[in-house]
Amino acid sequence: MKLVLASNNPGKLAELQQLFAPLGYALVRQSELGVGEAEEPFRTFVENALAKARHVSAAIGLPAMGDDAGLCVDAFNGLPGVDTAFYAMQFGYEKGDANNVRALLEQMAGIDQRRAALVSTLVAVRSAEDPEPLIASGRVVGEITRQPIGDNGFGFDPVMWLPEFGKTFAQLTPEVKNAHSHRGKAARAMLELMRERWL
Ligand code: IMP
Repeated sequence: MKLVLASNNPGKLAELQQLFAPLGYALVRQSELGVGEAEEPFRTFVENALAKARHVSAAIGLPAMGDDAGLCVDAFNGLPGVDTAFYAMQFGYEKGDANNVRALLEQMAGIDQRRAALVSTLVAVRSAEDPEPLIASGRVVGEITRQPIGDNGFGFDPVMWLPEFGKTFAQLTPEVKNAHSHRGKAARAMLELMRERWL
């Protein structure tokens, strides 16, 4: 069965594909089906993920899953949150992972409280009108490093230090990251919901 992922991020698709394979769902990116990006005007992950899923499902008439993820830094009262993808632009840099990391390290230069969570919210709908979307969330708590460490992953992985591993996300293999990441946790919760309600 096809499940369309309301995202064009190749890093996420690769991670989610592995996680959803056991269910028999083939995940397809929305751009492969010629669907444009949805607006993300909301202030919470769940609202944006739902908007993305509904947008794609309306365009193609298939079940769709939206994902909204971001970094919530304690010292910034949970921000950048839903603005994470555009964080660097708040400080005059171009959008992009490397600039996001650079901006974060600059903004946290004088801050000792470095606890932060990567948060992932998945929302799946059977149709654009689905009145009962499936909602699953996952989070991982770590410490923001003082410099990037590691080459794997994407986004803030090189500065997300996980005390239980003594490593950043960017030093873990994709398998280990999936087993412990915010997205992995959200995806496993979503798999359970789909098994229970959709299959
Ligand atoms: P979005 O869900 O595509 O809007 O992603 C929001 C932001 O969070 C982007 O800047 C991503 O790079 C970042 N992000 C999402 N997931 C991860 C992850 O697994 N590791 C590191 N950064 C992530």
